[in-house]
Amino acid sequence: MLNTRGPNQRRCLLLASVVKSQILYAAQIWSNATQCPEYFRGVNSTCRLCALQIRSAFRTVSGEEAFVIVSMIPVDILPRESTVLVSTPRTLTQLDRRPAREVSITEWQTKWNSTTKVRCTYRCIPNLESWLNRTHGEVHFYRSQFLSDLGCFKAYLFKFKHEHDPYCDFCRSAVQKDVHHEFFECARFQRQMNQLKLAVGGVFTPQSVVGYMVKEASEWASTSDTLTSILKQPKDLERQRRITRD
Ligand SMILES: [Zn+2]
Repeated sequence: MLNTRGPNQRRCLLLASVVKSQILYAAQIWSNATQCPEYFRGVNSTCRLCALQIRSAFRTVSGEEAFVIVSMIPVDILPRESTVLVSTPRTLTQLDRRPAREVSITEWQTKWNSTTKVRCTYRCIPNLESWLNRTHGEVHFYRSQFLSDLGCFKAYLFKFKHEHDPYCDFCRSAVQKDVHHEFFECARFQRQMNQLKLAVGGVFTPQSVVGYMVKEASEWASTSDTLTSILKQPKDLERQRRITRD
C-alpha cells in the first residue's frame, strides 16, 4: 500500500482482522499453546507485518511498537479472550463482552511496561488504555515516524550508511539528529513548536505530546498537523538526496 495515500487506519485494521480471525480459528482448543512463545514466533511475525503495513511504518519498527502505534492487540494475547467469548451466549452485546477485552488490555499493558527495547514509543504512549480508547485521530505514515523515532532522521539514516554523520546540520554541533532533537531541542523548528505550545496551552514534551492529542480532537489535529509539516521536510530532503545520488 502507498505510504501517504490509500485506505485509512480503520479500514486497514478491518483487513488485518481477517488475518487475525483465521489465526484464532478454534482458539479454545489450542489457547494453552500461547504459554510457549516459540509456537507463536511465526504468527507474531505475520501480525507484525500486518501492523507495519497498516500505517506504512518502517520495516525496522518492532512488533511491540507497531501493535501499540496502530492499536492492534498482539495476537498471542487474544486466544484466552476468544476462549472466554466462545463460551458466552451470542445474544450478549458488545458491552457485555467488554470485561474480557479489558483483561486482554491489562495483560498487554503489563507486557508493554516490561518491554525494554522500545523506549521512544513507550515514552510517548505509556498508558495503553487512553491511547486505545480515544474516539478521534488516526495514525499515518508521518505520525508513526514520530512515535517510533524511526524515519528520515539523520541519526537513523546514518545507521544504514545513507548519511555521512548522525549530527544536526542546523545546530552544527555534535548532537544526534533524532526525533527528540528534531522536535524538542532543534532551533530549526522552534517557531512551529512554540506556536503548537500556545495552541495546546501547556508544556510540550515527549511524555506529554500524546496526552494532548488523545484529549481533544482539535488538539489532535493541531499537534499532528505540526508534526506532519516538520516531518515532511526531512522526507523531502531524503528524496532529493536519492535523486542526486541516482
Ligand atoms: Zn538541530
